[in-house]
Amino acid sequence: MTVCALNITERHAMKKLIAGNWKMNGLKEDAIALTDAITAGLDDTICQTCDVLVCPPHIHIDAVANKVPDGVFVGGQDCSVRDSGAYTGDISAAMLKDMGCSFVILGHSERREYQAESNSLVAEKAAKAHANGLIAIICVGEKEDERESGKEYDVVGQQLDASLPEGATPDNTVIAYEPVWAIGTGKVATPDNVKDMHKFIRGKLQERLDNFSDMRILYGGSVKPENAKVLFSIENVDGALIGGASLKAADFLGIAKAA
Ligand code: PEP
Repeated sequence: MTVCALNITERHAMKKLIAGNWKMNGLKEDAIALTDAITAGLDDTICQTCDVLVCPPHIHIDAVANKVPDGVFVGGQDCSVRDSGAYTGDISAAMLKDMGCSFVILGHSERREYQAESNSLVAEKAAKAHANGLIAIICVGEKEDERESGKEYDVVGQQLDASLPEGATPDNTVIAYEPVWAIGTGKVATPDNVKDMHKFIRGKLQERLDNFSDMRILYGGSVKPENAKVLFSIENVDGALIGGASLKAADFLGIAKAA
């Protein structure tokens, strides 16, 4: 078994971040089997070029966090905007941290859509994640009709302006650009779409942050081993947020190898 002996503070040198979002899939035994398969397939090349992150359903985090080797990070898929109290069903950032998480995905388009999460709520959650020592992966991305009507830069620009909390730095925040029309659809944004949007995002970060060039910007949306190499060769693409393909160890590792 290869152990990725890296430390989260070694983010610099811009290792690609390869993040799997398992969403609401699998029972505990599936989560353990997937963790074992990913662990078994890690090799030195992956460890040297990537930071590997898995984000299981919250209920499986403990089981996964107890199995991953050092250097494979675990994350949540959401956290509460509150610290504790009578908020049935919610999970706090402190609970995620306590279970061994280093990251939390926030503002995923599925939560924006099905849980009506607003930019300001995402910013509050990100601030709570930061306060509890978690790195927030803040998701942004336009819907298909927004791109068709030429509004993609307005939408993503507004999401960035309003979803990043005060105090966001490259050490505590990652941006994931996920065009909604590319998530789980098999449609991938063209290399030019990705290049132009990631450049735009880098520019927006520059307006806001001193050390903007260091903040990772991930691409997400139907990333597969077959298209990963091209995506990773695009300027300002610092990794990927992967849904469907992260549920198969061979595909997830294939994407990491492409980095
Ligand atoms: C996602 O849900 O973040 C995602 C990118 O999904 P998929 O890779 O399946 O498109």
